[in-house]
Amino acid sequence: MSENPDFIDEKLWITLNGDPEKKLYLLYNPHTHKGRMGVWNPGTQDVSYVSKNEIETCSTEASYWIKGFICGNEPDPPLSKKGHDLEDDNPRMVRWREAIKLFADTGFWWLGEDRKCANCGKVLLPSRLGLLCSDCIKNS
Ligand SMILES: [Zn+2]
Repeated sequence: MSENPDFIDEKLWITLNGDPEKKLYLLYNPHTHKGRMGVWNPGTQDVSYVSKNEIETCSTEASYWIKGFICGNEPDPPLSKKGHDLEDDNPRMVRWREAIKLFADTGFWWLGEDRKCANCGKVLLPSRLGLLCSDCIKNS
């Protein structure tokens, strides 16, 4: 007999960084921030929210659930001022594709004003965690 509520799929477990013994269960899109996932916490008998970068381990089933979730959460590509699609080589499209690729890894998307690298001042991708650009991370 399961100790989890009926709405929990026990195949969809994850653990968080620094707490590998405590299983949480993927639930749904809480529509709080891009990439945030609602999870059931059996310890508190409550729902909380996590991002991909906070997950340490997960079941195979959960890994595919997360991949699909992140793809479905990708922000739309930028449009022209008149609302039309941009050419593939438009710098805004190039930057968006780079950000989407990183989003698949981080599950994080900053919606505030542009953030700048704390080291060199380059504008950071919205999916970049922390305050260092990729160049400064490589050179540190
Ligand atoms: Zn930098």
